[in-house]
Amino acid sequence: MTNSQTTNTSTLGGPLLEPTPKSSDPARLAGDIVDRLTYRLGKDATVATQDDWLTAVILVVRDRVVTKWMESTRDTYRREGKRVYYLSLEFLIGRLMRDAMTNLGLVDEMQEALGELGVDLDLIRQLEPDAALGNGGLGRLAACFMESMASVDIPAYGYGIRYQNGMFRQEISDGWQVELPETWLEHGNPWEFERRESAYDIGFGGSIEIGEDDACTWTPSERFIAEAFDTPIVGWQAKRVNTLRLWRAEPVDPILLGKFNAGDHIGALHDSNKAEALSRVLYPADETEAGQELRLRQEYFFSSASLQDILRRHMSQFGRITSLPDKAAIQLNDTHPAVSVAELMRLLIDDYNVDFDLAWDMTKRTFAYTNHTLLPEALESWPIPLFERLLPRHMQLIYKINARVLMEARATGTFEDEQISAMSLIDENGSRRVRMGNLAFVGAHSINGVSGLHTDLMKQTVFRDLHQLYPLRINNKTNGVTPRRWLMQINPDLYDLAREVAGDGIMSDLDGLLALNDVADDAGVQERFTAIKHQNKVALSNLVQDRMGIAIDPSMMFDIQIKRIHEYKRQLLNIVETVALYHQIRSHPERAWAPRVKVFAGKAAASYHNAKLIIKLAGDVAKIINADPATRDVLKVAFLPNYNVSLAEVMVPAADLSEQISTAGMEASGTGNMKFGLNGALTIGTLDGANVEMREHLGAENIVIFGMTADEVAAKRAGGYNPEEVIAGSPELAQALSAIENGIFSPQDPFRYRDLIGGIRMSDWFMLAADFDSYSAAQRDVDRIWHDKPRWAGMAIRNTARMGYFSSDRTIRQYAREIWNVLP
Ligand SMILES: *Cc1c(COP(=O)(O)O)cnc(C)c1O
Repeated sequence: MTNSQTTNTSTLGGPLLEPTPKSSDPARLAGDIVDRLTYRLGKDATVATQDDWLTAVILVVRDRVVTKWMESTRDTYRREGKRVYYLSLEFLIGRLMRDAMTNLGLVDEMQEALGELGVDLDLIRQLEPDAALGNGGLGRLAACFMESMASVDIPAYGYGIRYQNGMFRQEISDGWQVELPETWLEHGNPWEFERRESAYDIGFGGSIEIGEDDACTWTPSERFIAEAFDTPIVGWQAKRVNTLRLWRAEPVDPILLGKFNAGDHIGALHDSNKAEALSRVLYPADETEAGQELRLRQEYFFSSASLQDILRRHMSQFGRITSLPDKAAIQLNDTHPAVSVAELMRLLIDDYNVDFDLAWDMTKRTFAYTNHTLLPEALESWPIPLFERLLPRHMQLIYKINARVLMEARATGTFEDEQISAMSLIDENGSRRVRMGNLAFVGAHSINGVSGLHTDLMKQTVFRDLHQLYPLRINNKTNGVTPRRWLMQINPDLYDLAREVAGDGIMSDLDGLLALNDVADDAGVQERFTAIKHQNKVALSNLVQDRMGIAIDPSMMFDIQIKRIHEYKRQLLNIVETVALYHQIRSHPERAWAPRVKVFAGKAAASYHNAKLIIKLAGDVAKIINADPATRDVLKVAFLPNYNVSLAEVMVPAADLSEQISTAGMEASGTGNMKFGLNGALTIGTLDGANVEMREHLGAENIVIFGMTADEVAAKRAGGYNPEEVIAGSPELAQALSAIENGIFSPQDPFRYRDLIGGIRMSDWFMLAADFDSYSAAQRDVDRIWHDKPRWAGMAIRNTARMGYFSSDRTIRQYAREIWNVLP
């Protein structure tokens, strides 16, 4: 497997004999494509498969990228400026071909070139594998940031793991989620360059020897090689091309020949298999019991490789280790790379002979950390015995760092013992564990949240005491999305309309969209906007028809909830409301119901029982409702399998209504909410995450807000919330819950949902019942707006117009100015 990929890549990437084409002339492009087909793939145009054409086109695009890439690299060296390093265990990049072609300005020319060759660009585009090296929002943010850093001209490197199997492929079998491996590298990966020369030793286990003058020598008992694979990331108008460097683990000895020759053919491959496991799979984010040891090994593997690479680059250009904080800003995307704090200390002290005090100062000046969640089960910590066994030297350094931090805290004389123990890097409650969030906090000069609300809550909850000790460190950087992918590429007609009104500059400055605001009530613009939306809905209904065999009338309201399936995101609230609506339509068929289709998509972590049950429930409810002739014209439900970036690209432009209904205080930011708003969907949502700021930018009259605030949720939880009482007071909710609980939607297995609904009656941690009436009333408000077509269109256009703030270019400029101290 590994070998065949290696061969593939190097065949595709052969660096010699390559002419350096720069022209975007269609005839030249066509010639180059045939050339790649012939000389790289060894295929004649008459026998080439669609996959061959795709590879040939990508190679032609890639050649044009490479020229710019080298210019960018040379420019960075020449300027002797600071580089940004974005460390993330996840990059949810999706397909790259259209992205690269758009940013190079090659789309029309390529279309024409392929037309001459009789190849359909849209068709081969669909064959490109969707690179899903991430679980959800956190990984997609990393991908948007990579594109934005290149677009605003910041020299940056992304560092992560080249998972052989990324996020699983979801199939729905008899309504249940089934997880299958995603084999995105099956046909090779024409985007990447294998860098055999950039390889580093990564050690685990072993022992430490303390020599004279306290110098430490760590002798690991296990060693692996981290090998680099580079993917170029093109910014808007190809101003800059940055590098995404992903690591693959290799054994030091691919085969233990001694063992092999002695007849132990399996044992001979032991190291090889162990290495392969390191970069094999992406762990599901929401898993509570991950394969603990392998996960920690992955985190250290990619942190160590990346830091060694950063230090090597720094020394080769600047020759002096102490200038590192002036020349490198390292951003930790959540706590997954937090072990980097200890690893940089180790490298500085043990390999570069820097003393502890200076090393600690340099470390803090180099690192910044982004927090992504307040959910207690997602705050990483490692059992001390495990940590000590795998990383003995790092354990020792963490104790030393901890002693220093706690001394600083005690020296202030303002903290109680309880607060000191909350600040400690070691959790002493129960079995002792290393707290990675606290390690990242103390080792960084900046700790940021990803929306205003999340940042405030961070100060009050997880980092309350550390915030009191270091009050200047926490800051906010509200998330964003790249408008090139999430508007221009996925909704070209809306982009054209926006450009006609707002001018050509909108992709470099999304605030320019505000010009649309002045024409939002113009009948001609509304008609055009509505026609574009309709066409996008036709495209989605064709997809639903093809994949699910469900017919959807594109004139219905497309009400869409797509995101990871999680109880806090409350897909269940949406489903229960759907059932209540179904009952209401049946009881009052004479009312003017707004015809809707509720569309769901999302993956559940493989071990998350309730999330998987919610998927099954969506399917069960869909089956009954879609078959009922009494409601058929006004209500439809569909669950689309295998949610990923490519599916989002079809669903987002087709949405009329975006569901952002998490329990307030639990969604750190959300970015799905931003994609929908930008594409002219109205949002129904709670005051959670970035929804709060969306309301500020859109105006309260252009978003439908319901439910409790974060403060109200906290107060209710503290004050003894009784869900049964709430249910008793809401006949519609009571009826919907009873129907689900009593097996109306699962007649073959009537008890299927008893525990799921029982959980709401018993404790209802996610406050579904408490928010139900408010949600249901808000949905009826949405119905009323839907019937007033000009009002709906005006609101939708104002959504697109006022979403400029949520461009990831704005987010990245803020990181650059306020955290990294680099000038775009
Ligand atoms: C944007 C995006 C997400 C994040 O969605 P939220 O609604 O913010 O949770 C997750 N997965 C994919 C594929 C995305 O494109």
